[in-house]
Amino acid sequence: MKKPYETHGRIALIQMDSPPVNSLAHSQRIALFDAMDAAVQDSEIDAVVICGAGQHFCGGAAIEEFNLPVRAEPSLKKIIDCMEGSAKPILAAIHGSALGGGLELALGCHYRLATTDARLGLPEITLGLLPGGGGTQRLPRLVGVEAALALILSGERLDGASAAKVGLVDDVLDAVVRGAENLDGVGQNVAGLAIAWLQRRLMLPVPEPLSRRKAWFASLDNELGFFENAADKAAQVKGSQRAARDCVACVRASTEMAFESGLAFERSKFLELVASSESISLRHLFFAERKAARVPGLSADVMPEIVAEAAVVGAGLMGSGIAMCFANAGIPVRLLELDAEALERGMRRIEKTYADSVAKGRLAQSVMDRRMSLVKPAQRYEELASVDLVVEAVFEDMSVKQQVFVQLDAACKPEAILATNTSRLDIDEIASVTKRPGHVIGMHFFSPANVMRLLEVVRARCTSAKTLATIMRAGRALRKLPVAVGICDGFVGNRMVTAYFREAGFLLEEGASPSQVDKALLDFGMAMGPFAMSDMVGLDISWAGRKRMAATRLRHLRYSKVADMLCEEGRFGQKTGAGYFRYQVGS
Ligand code: NAD
Repeated sequence: MKKPYETHGRIALIQMDSPPVNSLAHSQRIALFDAMDAAVQDSEIDAVVICGAGQHFCGGAAIEEFNLPVRAEPSLKKIIDCMEGSAKPILAAIHGSALGGGLELALGCHYRLATTDARLGLPEITLGLLPGGGGTQRLPRLVGVEAALALILSGERLDGASAAKVGLVDDVLDAVVRGAENLDGVGQNVAGLAIAWLQRRLMLPVPEPLSRRKAWFASLDNELGFFENAADKAAQVKGSQRAARDCVACVRASTEMAFESGLAFERSKFLELVASSESISLRHLFFAERKAARVPGLSADVMPEIVAEAAVVGAGLMGSGIAMCFANAGIPVRLLELDAEALERGMRRIEKTYADSVAKGRLAQSVMDRRMSLVKPAQRYEELASVDLVVEAVFEDMSVKQQVFVQLDAACKPEAILATNTSRLDIDEIASVTKRPGHVIGMHFFSPANVMRLLEVVRARCTSAKTLATIMRAGRALRKLPVAVGICDGFVGNRMVTAYFREAGFLLEEGASPSQVDKALLDFGMAMGPFAMSDMVGLDISWAGRKRMAATRLRHLRYSKVADMLCEEGRFGQKTGAGYFRYQVGS
């Protein structure tokens, strides 16, 4: 009977093969367990190497299986039990990603090797979960409590060299080799190098499995108050506080409980988290973000153009942020304002934002200098003749926008795409004043544009497929999350926010203060409260929209006037020093 692994002398090679990332879906677990069990029992085999086919070792659990009421056997635990129970050395040969359950599988092996460009990590926290395949118990026993907790709480990925430095892998496979195909002749590939490495160690005693070691602190000093401190920090993690708190508790258990009890504790916490609304939402978001990349009705045959040079019209709050997005991505950008003072203010705002990052140590001065050199101020439309894409971010007023588009249409090359950052105006109407409606589209950034990931790509009636594909691609090049949407009042994001703000306004009328409402929503897990957010975005933007839509408002519906009254007093938020809150220099 054919063996479920290849043999290289007396070494078995088990290859995980379920594209694209060899995730540990049920069928993959069955294949892996059967191969491992057979290899461990095979008297012609002395040692085992596990590797991944294609571009990765293993991307981890099949996340969609978390939604199933019962997880089918064999579990990852059963596979690892089989490996740790084996007297034969087992080695994980890692290239590409070893994430989540994929890394936990490797932690169940006696040896780990990785290519220098591999990516190893436990990103479960980003899904509101904790590593539930023994990761919280084995990792502190391998790299120490501090390094383990840092990796688990950050979800950060380490490359092969950094993984070797903290002791997560035994060695780096120095030749950066991709894929584990062409195994004949044990050539220059991951599996081949790993087999050669293991062959040299066959005479050595087999290292103890991690389950039989003790969790350790790097120094006694760190032990004192370490977990109390970590729990305080975990409470400040946004979005996944509960998972962060449980990660700390599980790593603590690795130092206080016997291995099997720690594992059972981890399992119980994992099951609680899987059923939590935070994790269910974060998993939904994970799949939704992937789905957003596929635009309904847009064929994969449509080839997007590359945006090599861009321009932004309007150097206000949004325009300067959008110009930074291009500069951050290394794309030269012209920033056009007719008003010299406003242009100067916009350039200063960009410089100050970068300088603040440099002062906080988040950006190197040389990077700031390079980015600043990519932003060129402009005052005449003719200066935009060569750009591939223009994003308009002038006042939210149809006639102003239409005038700008007439000028852009005349000045820009015919194939240039003209995008508007309008929040609520009808893009069909804006496109109608140009001779190139197929090249007109919405690029709706969110404030602060240089920070927020979401980018609504608004498809107007005449927008061509090529324009849409080009802007989806450009959005990714700007490291945003582009989501294609259609035209309607507020598109998707602001339409949702409108309902949210309306309810927040009612709370004020019923006696709550802005800070009380904001605090309740911060505690709920929002990054900002609705009133601090309104003040940051500028109250005038939504006021303009409400005035424009006033005639169509349904009179029988309750309407909160608080925001309008603030605007009537000129309180537009941070930009005027007052909105729902007061903003004073230095405060
Ligand atoms: P802003 O008032 O800060 O900036 C507008 C800028 O446009 C000003 O600097 C003004 O001088 C300039 N401008 C006006 N007419 C011009 C013209 N004809 N030519 C060149 N420049 C001109 O406003 P903002 O908040 O940056 O908003 C700009 C656009 O972005 C609006 O359409 C708004 O709806 C949209 N938007 C705003 C936000 C937000 O949070 N503020 C979010 C998404 C989209």
